[in-house]
Amino acid sequence: MSGTILGVIADDFTGATDIAGLLARSGVRVSLRIGVPDAAPNGTSAFEVIALKSRTAPVQEAIDETRAALAWLRDAGAHRFFWKYCSTFDSTAEGNIGPVAEALMADLGTDQTIYCPAFPENGRSIFMGNLFVGQQLLSESPMKDHPLTPMRDSNLMRLLHPQVSKPVGLIDRLVVAQGVEALRDSLSQHHADGTSHVIVDAVANADLETIAAACRDMPLITGGSAVAMPLPALYLADGLLSADAPKQQLHDLERKTIVLSGSCSAMTNAQVDAYIARGAPSYRLDPLALSQSGPQAVLEWLTQQDLGAAPLIYATADPAQVKAAQAELGASNVGALIEDTLAECARVARDAGARRIIVAGGETSGAVTKALDVTQLDIAVEIAPGVPWTYCTSGGTQIALALKSGNFGREDFFTLAQNKLDTP
Ligand code: ADP
Repeated sequence: MSGTILGVIADDFTGATDIAGLLARSGVRVSLRIGVPDAAPNGTSAFEVIALKSRTAPVQEAIDETRAALAWLRDAGAHRFFWKYCSTFDSTAEGNIGPVAEALMADLGTDQTIYCPAFPENGRSIFMGNLFVGQQLLSESPMKDHPLTPMRDSNLMRLLHPQVSKPVGLIDRLVVAQGVEALRDSLSQHHADGTSHVIVDAVANADLETIAAACRDMPLITGGSAVAMPLPALYLADGLLSADAPKQQLHDLERKTIVLSGSCSAMTNAQVDAYIARGAPSYRLDPLALSQSGPQAVLEWLTQQDLGAAPLIYATADPAQVKAAQAELGASNVGALIEDTLAECARVARDAGARRIIVAGGETSGAVTKALDVTQLDIAVEIAPGVPWTYCTSGGTQIALALKSGNFGREDFFTLAQNKLDTP
């Protein structure tokens, strides 16, 4: 047994499943905790991920929660740490990326860390300190209009500077391209100059390999999920992780399945259309009808379904329909109404024997896991980059959950997910 090596703290839930899924590509067991567990660590995995909901929380609250997560992970035996935030560096001038990083550095007694939100497989790259989404600068991408964290600058040094108290520097792609030693030398130089916060360019997976190799001994790495991907193999090579560390096994679960979609992202709309076109039984939630008559109709429909046919319940709608429902009921009311209804559907389906639950939507996933009383997930097979199947216990029985944030996966996601659990 290697015990826990790496402790990851993620600032939101689907971000946590994203990094957990990438670490699990190594085959080693990865556990994800929703919030800081109340109980002391016991029987923890080599890789432990704690999902917080701190991305847009007040700065001090985010710091306090993250420090509590760090303390739990240290108790679990972790001796390397990763602060995971969004690959589009979602933050405001106040934080929370920088202030949380400085709090973690203080607790860990370290005075240097790196920032690498690049995720080339998903089109996020950093060049000369500027973050790109596909071929667009971050500030010209749809992220410029994000309702909570509009990203109006693409330069990570400028974005990070107001969030931290110590100097910010850059190691650019020209240095990264020279390899591990050059990167290490540059980090030492920055350290000697008192530069605590170092942005590191990366445009391809090979850059991430170099960065992870050069930084693997740092107490704290910060970034998107992708720069953590090479860590398991490096830990294995270093002897930190033993080759016989427990692997995640596939469980033989009944095929009864429910698909729940509360996401209205463009990709989810396409996934719902494709699944219905395949002939899947489906029920569309109408927010106005729900607000008037409650969830009885959908729950009745659900109890009449053959769960072997993996029926779909969806609220997914195009932007005009969403706007109309929001105008009628208020945006947060309609969101909560649908989340509560889908969460109730998940509970009813589980009680009716569903052992595989597929959920589309980040907030929707949070509502479903809460309703199912799930606090810990073991990461299983990957369905799409950033979306793994997970195993958990709910209502005293083992189930599999696939939790997908809006824009992840391809059009055939719901079908692919079902196939993957049987033939990874
Ligand atoms: P995503 O990951 O795509 O952002 P989320 O589940 O995080 O998905 O957010 C989608 C939000 O939209 C949820 O609060 C959900 O309840 C709400 N929603 C879903 N369908 C509708 C609809 N038809 N009208 C209005 N709001 C909706």
